[in-house]
This record gives sequence, C-alpha cells and structure tokens, in this order.
Amino acid sequence: METHISKSITPSVALQEAEAILRRCVHCGFCTATCPTYQLLGNELDGPRGRIYLIKQILETGQAGKDARTHLDRCLGCRSCETTCPSGVHYLRLLHVGRHLAYELAPLPFAQRSLRHILRATLPYPRRLAPMFRAARLFRPLLPLALRHKIPDADNKAQQALQPQNCHRKIILFQGCVQSVVATSINAATRRILQRLGIQSLDATGESCCGAVNHHLDDIETARNMAQNNIDRWLTLIDEGAEALVVTASACALEIKEYPLLFPENSKYHDKSLRLQPYCMEIGEFLAKQDISALRVPEDAPTISFHSPCTLQHGLKGQGHTEALLRETGFDVREPEDAHLCCGSAGTYSITQPKLSGTLRENKLLQLEKAGGEVIATANIGCLLHLQEKAERPVRHWIEWLDEALETGNTPVQ
Ligand code: SF4
Ligand code: SF4
Repeated sequence: METHISKSITPSVALQEAEAILRRCVHCGFCTATCPTYQLLGNELDGPRGRIYLIKQILETGQAGKDARTHLDRCLGCRSCETTCPSGVHYLRLLHVGRHLAYELAPLPFAQRSLRHILRATLPYPRRLAPMFRAARLFRPLLPLALRHKIPDADNKAQQALQPQNCHRKIILFQGCVQSVVATSINAATRRILQRLGIQSLDATGESCCGAVNHHLDDIETARNMAQNNIDRWLTLIDEGAEALVVTASACALEIKEYPLLFPENSKYHDKSLRLQPYCMEIGEFLAKQDISALRVPEDAPTISFHSPCTLQHGLKGQGHTEALLRETGFDVREPEDAHLCCGSAGTYSITQPKLSGTLRENKLLQLEKAGGEVIATANIGCLLHLQEKAERPVRHWIEWLDEALETGNTPVQ
C-alpha cells in the first residue's frame, strides 16, 4: 500500500518503519476474520484492515478525528491478525505509531488522560501498588461494584520455604510488577519446580517493571529507561554465570524479547538487548528445553482447561507448546474452541474499555467451561486476574497447578 506521508508530520525512524509496514499490506482482509473486536462490533473500522486504512489516512492527511482515535483505541493489541496475515504485516508496530499520532492530533478527554496517567504512575511500581491494594481491600465494601471486583484477594497461599539444595545451575527469575504484589505464589511455585531440576533461581537486585505497561500506554521514554536498567542488571548476572532469564508472565517475556525494537539500530542498548535476547525465555519455553522426566503428576491431578494468552500464542508464537508440556507431565489438558481469541484482559484494556473487555471474558469463560477442565490454567498474570474475577472454576498459572500436583503426589524434590 503506497503511502504519501503528509509534510506536516515530523519525519522519524518510527514513521519510516510505519511506511514500510503499510507497503506490505495487500488489503486481502484475511485478518479481519480472526479479529475479536471485528467479531463483536461487525464494523470494518473495528478490524485490522480498517484500522490500517485509518492509520494510512492519518499519515497522509496529518489529521485525525475523535472517531479514528476511538476505532484505534478499541484495538486490543492481541496480534491475532498478525498470526493470520499471509504478508507478514507487523500490525502492532504500526498501531503504536498510529495511536501516538491520533492522541496528538485528537487528544483524549481529560478523564481518560488522567486514568492513563494514574495507571502509568502506579501499576509498574510494586512499592506504590502494594499499599494501594492493602487500602483498597480494607475499604472494598465502600468501593463501586465494578471496582470492587478488580481488587484481588491478599496473596495468602502457603509459601513453602525452600530447603538449600545442591543446585548446580542458576537462572535469573524475573519478578514483575503487578505479579510481585498480588500473586507471589507463581514465582514461589516456579522456584520449587526449578529446584527439582537442580536449578537455583536468582533475583536481580534493582530490577524494574519490564516496561510493557508504559509502552502500551504510549510512554515509550519510560519503557526505554526501564529496559536499560533491566538490561544492565541482567547482563551482569549472565556474565556471572546465570544461564537464562526466566519469565513467568508471557506479556513480560514478549516485551523483554522485543527490547531491541525500543532502541535505534546500532545504538549501545540495541546491541545489549540483542545480546540479552537469546537468554530470555518464558517459563514454558525454558522447561521445554530441559529434561522434565522427574516432573510426573499423579493420576488424580485435576483436568485443565487451558487459556493461552495472546502474548504467548500470537506474540511469542508458542501456540500449543505449553499444552504439550503439561501433557508430558501427565495432565489431561482441554483446549477451548476459538482459542485464538483474546479474553479481553489485554494489559490495561479491561480498565480503559470495560464493556468490550467484559463481553470477551464472558465468551472466553463459556468456552473454557465447555472444554470441561476441572480447573482453568493460563500463563499471564493479566489474563489470570481478569478471568478469576468471574470464573466459577479456580483459575491459576499453570506452573502453580503443576507445583501443587507434584507436592500432593509427594514426588520429593531431588
Ligand atoms: S490486534 Fe487484535 S483487536 Fe487489534 S486489529 Fe489485530 S486482531 Fe483485531
Ligand atoms: S491479512 Fe495482512 S495483508 Fe491482508 S489485509 Fe490483513 S494485514 Fe493486510
């Protein structure tokens, strides 16, 4: 798709990239069929091809109205369209450029801007988030109903202390921001599983949020600063012998793997992030590379309906990998129909677009329950909290179900 960029838009590397991405799109519309928002709203402009046209129009005219911004804002960033596209269009990169311009040319209303500012200033910072959650739990009965359900219960699951073991290998275990406040049980379970394999999990002192929250809320500068801080700390530990950076939230794993895209080519941090890239692995990807014959769950382990987060299946291209891994350990794993569709969590989408997000969750839970698993498992903290709010069956990270099944099966830690 040839694009003549308006002279009123300041040239930039991102703009050049957007132009190159637009050139790849052949308007075939295959992507539209697998787009969750198009399926719900039935409007071409709420599907990927329509949004691509809108972005092209913004670039060519240097103008954007409220309607264009609204259609772009309704996009989940789920990348289902990227999986479907036969021409390899990097839609999300284009969306980030289009949205940034749309926000500049047609600013969001004050309330929306304030909400996004609050999200950017709180979610990525566990020290700010933890007291807020404590206070919110205390005053939960006084909160509006919609908000009341958004406050997760205190993370009181038993944290079994690890005994010192003969671990001859070590990895860095990424802590995350929201997860490190509301679901410490996920990384605790991961440490125990890795210990069974003779692997010690290290914390990187001074590590920050991966940057995904800020990146997706159009604050690239902060995301870049967070990435730089993390890259330096992780590379130091890698130079000291850590063999991988293991990440239990698929959204964070994707953001970290894509750090090179945050920096100009040939810059210092572009090179550093390229060096880091092969070390970063989502927990399922890491375990798939290990001998996991010691991880066998008992026969009465619960059957699992598995929700594969978009960041795992469309972003990291790990479709079916975790399901296969869980089956290898002995779990009976059920896959829901329309597994490619987003659950509606999508970062902060459930807060900025509650209506659409709620409908997508209803549909997803229906399919997960129809799949027949006794419990629901997923691989990303955002999806987990979002589904947990309304699910009738327990929802946890799959690593927790695996850890619990191994503990009840009394398979001793080696
Ligand atoms: S990212 Fe998801 S919601 Fe957005 S256009 Fe693509 S498929 Fe549709
Ligand atoms: S499938 Fe790819 S090439 Fe076809 S319209 Fe969608 S983005 Fe463009």
